Amino acid sequence: MSLLGSGRTLTRECAFWDKLLPLTIANAIQNTAFYRGLYADRSLGAGFSLADLPGLPIVTREMLRKSGSSSVARNLTCAAIQNTSGTSGTAIFLHRSAEEFAFIEAFFSQAFAAPANSGARPLVLVLCNIGHGVHTPVPLPVFVLQSDLISLNQIHRPLAYLARDYDLEGVAPRVSSIVGTVSQLNVLTHYLCEHGHRELMEPIREIFLTSEYVTPANRLWLEQRWGNVEIRNRYSMSECFGGATYCKHCDGFHFDPVIVPELVDFKSDKEDGAPLGRLIVTALFPFVQMQPIIRYQSDDIFRLDEATCSRPSFRYFGRISQTLFDPLDNRMVVLPGATLDDVLDETDNVARVPTFEGSLAAPFSGEPITIGEVRTEGGLRRFDLVVAMTQISHNEKQARDIEEKLLERCPTLRRLVSSGEARFTVTAVHQDSVSRSTFDKTTRSIWVERQ
Ligand SMILES: [Zn+2]
Repeated sequence: MSLLGSGRTLTRECAFWDKLLPLTIANAIQNTAFYRGLYADRSLGAGFSLADLPGLPIVTREMLRKSGSSSVARNLTCAAIQNTSGTSGTAIFLHRSAEEFAFIEAFFSQAFAAPANSGARPLVLVLCNIGHGVHTPVPLPVFVLQSDLISLNQIHRPLAYLARDYDLEGVAPRVSSIVGTVSQLNVLTHYLCEHGHRELMEPIREIFLTSEYVTPANRLWLEQRWGNVEIRNRYSMSECFGGATYCKHCDGFHFDPVIVPELVDFKSDKEDGAPLGRLIVTALFPFVQMQPIIRYQSDDIFRLDEATCSRPSFRYFGRISQTLFDPLDNRMVVLPGATLDDVLDETDNVARVPTFEGSLAAPFSGEPITIGEVRTEGGLRRFDLVVAMTQISHNEKQARDIEEKLLERCPTLRRLVSSGEARFTVTAVHQDSVSRSTFDKTTRSIWVERQ
């Protein structure tokens, strides 16, 4: 099942994709033994188009990892090897060529060329985070300052950048945009507010959040503290050049034209409307050349919504490892991981594994500590969720609140429970009664099947 091209709104991208897809496929077949072998029983020529894409096999991370150098184009000059973060399994190493770097630099230099009298370049502060894989550098029409922030001990560095006036030719005198993960921005925001540095927040007009899911509660918290600021959110994978940008008008993501997104596999309750699917991405040549990525399987679930915007809208439903599936029909999504995150971010005193040293001080920082158990007894499913809390008062009421919100927002869960086909319980316990070290959510599943 492919959910591509659901109407008029894809016309421009389809033309772009139809032009680059044959080049993408030809490059992969001609220059890599892996794709040549994968497509050996097909005749894929210059007439390859978007409609042919869903007929090709899906490539998993494990296939790519095992393929070793056979998935690397031999006709190009390797300029860099980038690692993925490995947050959803073993990290893989991606070869990037001098040719694709040169193309990207030339393409974006032209695309972002500033008109003659366009004024000063904005000054952007980028908070680096080496834990999220390596990205391809792109020429931008801004001046970038970089600071590390993976521990509260380093907070003085971004603060110093925010506090300074700059005297650089053709560049704005103050930082007006900040780029970082949501954890970094939560920590920075909390620190600025708590330590009386609100004047440093005044000149900021844009915040770009990357690499992590941003819940509505967390977004609202940031908006309230930064005031007159536009918060943007990017979805990306290290394997692919490009990504998708969150759109507040449709509450979904719009993919960059350099990526072809597809959704496959999952079902959802009819009440949900549009089907859910696992995201499959194709990275287009010549933006990706040395390590072709064609129909590559992500770990993320999205839903393609009828566009309220002029472009297809992909709503994020969470990671597959964080999502509860029906044990009697493993293609049925019962409780999406993102919905659980949303509800826990609306709940006070949820215990978390800090994402970096000192981050516990800031709200929403760190992964919530949860344990989910799935059992089947005859035709009855049992879903039991334990949520660790920092305080034990009101834990019974908080557990009921979480349970009610999840039932309200997950139609499939609600249907199974109300028809007597499933039992669902939420228990809140003190954090001391669970072992924190086992709760690195990025590498584990929330839901474990028990007999
Ligand atoms: Zn939109």
